[in-house]
Amino acid sequence: MVVEFIFVGTELLLGNIVNTNAAYLSEKCAGQGLSCYYQTVVGDNEGRLTGVLQTAMERSDIVILSGGLGPTEDDLTKEVAAKVCGKALYMHEPSRQALERYFLKRGIELTDNNWKQAMIPEGAIVLENPNGTAPGVIIETKKAKVILLPGPPGELCPMFEESVAPYLARLTNTVIFSQTVKICGVGESKAETMVKDLIDAQTNPTLATYAKTGEVHIRVTASADTEENAMKLTAPVVKELKKRFGKAVYTAEEGVTLEMAVTELLKSRNLTVTCAESCTGGLLSGRLINAAGASDVYKAGFVTYSNKAKHKWIGVKKSTLKKYGAVSAETAREMAEGAACAAKADAAVSVTGIAGPDGGTEEKPVGLVYIGCCVKGRVTVKKYQFSGNRAKVRESAVAAALTLLRKCVLDAS
Ligand code: ATP
Ligand code: MG
Repeated sequence: MVVEFIFVGTELLLGNIVNTNAAYLSEKCAGQGLSCYYQTVVGDNEGRLTGVLQTAMERSDIVILSGGLGPTEDDLTKEVAAKVCGKALYMHEPSRQALERYFLKRGIELTDNNWKQAMIPEGAIVLENPNGTAPGVIIETKKAKVILLPGPPGELCPMFEESVAPYLARLTNTVIFSQTVKICGVGESKAETMVKDLIDAQTNPTLATYAKTGEVHIRVTASADTEENAMKLTAPVVKELKKRFGKAVYTAEEGVTLEMAVTELLKSRNLTVTCAESCTGGLLSGRLINAAGASDVYKAGFVTYSNKAKHKWIGVKKSTLKKYGAVSAETAREMAEGAACAAKADAAVSVTGIAGPDGGTEEKPVGLVYIGCCVKGRVTVKKYQFSGNRAKVRESAVAAALTLLRKCVLDAS
């Protein structure tokens, strides 16, 4: 089957915005085994859009249009498509109600032109848009299937994943299967460089990398006639990724989080764990306890925010705090050792840093974090420099602490 794309928007022609939808849709459709021979960018102009759409419908089985579904005068994709396909527009009640709910929820007043977004060509399939106001539309004609999607990528991409990909899979009698390889402790750009050749060579399966805080996820997606055959296509690529990233891969299973992997690892090694937290203030413990089964490994934790608490509860020496400061490798080390001792745990992770926005100095800037990890008496301390606001620094510190704990446990056995 042959697919063709039409990107509608004068802004695209003028270079005001980059046509990221083109790269996205091309990659996705290629991954579903569709051939694409033409892509067109056309301005918000009725006559020219009509011409481009008629031509596309003559030579392709599926025509996907992006943009121009909005409420304003220059948004005319749906009106033109309906006309070219010979369909009248009618008020689609569920879409009208969805529109009403969308505005009510946000406390914005609907203007008259908004209603036009709920007008649907007769007989068309309506695709819900949970991220915006314009529903997507599929018009099936004898010549071609015409698929209209909203322009904003934040609306187009989820709509494609949720509604269009399964529709195309049914049309082409294919099954889509994807598997995600999750990696910790490797930065996004390094991870991307490490798989660049695979990404450049991809057709089926396709690879996509997603950066998460402290993690990179690589999703491998294949399409085939059966799920079994699709899995046969993803398996060697997943194997190759595991080979390239080695111990940094914490899972390739669906639904497994970093804290779940760490908890499982501790359990398998029969180790208990405790946390001593300063700037993360319990977030690290919270994440470990997110994992069902945490009770097998997690006994107690310490939020020691003040110097006094660091000394009193987990025995950090007053002289260490005075000489090196609370945010230092030495304090992180004593926090980990002291917590392991106080909680009688086999392993301990400590976090001490400057989350900001205040408190930074030239020598110790905001985002500086020391993480200590003590496994069976052996201590490792690492220094990190995170960026972003207070919440982001704390979130990054937690991810790094889980990653370091995992590494130390793996190295210890
Ligand atoms: P809206 O309801 O926001 O008007 P729309 O479906 O009418 O949405 P457009 O008006 O064509 O879409 O574009 C809205 C915005 O979506 C653009 O300003 C741009 O930010 C983004 N956008 C549109 N087309 C593309 C594209 N091909 N690639 C990337 N971004 C796009
Ligand atoms: Mg618009």
